Amino acid sequence: MNNQSLIHWHSMFMGVALLAAARSKDARKRNGACIASADNKILGVGYNGLPRGCDDADASYWADDDHDPLHSRHSYIVHAEVNAILNCVVLPLTGGTIYTTQFPCPRCAQSIIQVGIRTVVYLDKKSHQTAANAASDKMFADAGLRVLSLNELEAASARWCGKLDDFIQQTGPELHGLHGLPGLPGT
Ligand SMILES: [Zn+2]
Repeated sequence: MNNQSLIHWHSMFMGVALLAAARSKDARKRNGACIASADNKILGVGYNGLPRGCDDADASYWADDDHDPLHSRHSYIVHAEVNAILNCVVLPLTGGTIYTTQFPCPRCAQSIIQVGIRTVVYLDKKSHQTAANAASDKMFADAGLRVLSLNELEAASARWCGKLDDFIQQTGPELHGLHGLPGLPGT
């Protein structure tokens, strides 16, 4: 008998964040987030995408002109962390942990702090976004949050999530019938 779990809690929660990321239609970067309570219940899950009702086929939502808010994706896309907060199934989120596939941007950091989440566990951190990362870190530090990479928290979980991400990336939409296979649900 070997009555043990196959994966850590950290692997499960970051794994859910990775699965959520796979639902994102943002081809540039698919991000996911999963909020867990102190007693390991999932409170909310989200990925980056447009607000409800906004047409994914409308190119202006995905445009790249950062000098024109009407034609900048940054005006429209709701980040995974904020979606996870807004999609929460129970309140409060106080004392919870948010697992994010990407280190939170300053806007998301604000929301994470304001809903009372106390711990941030991230999978990747974009090294070129030094100033934005520093701004998030400054707020997290002042608000007393615990922030750490999954790798430093639980290296085995980080390796497992890396393999899960590889699997998700390799299987792609084809295996899921999202490209017009008959009899399967669309997106
Ligand atoms: Zn963000």
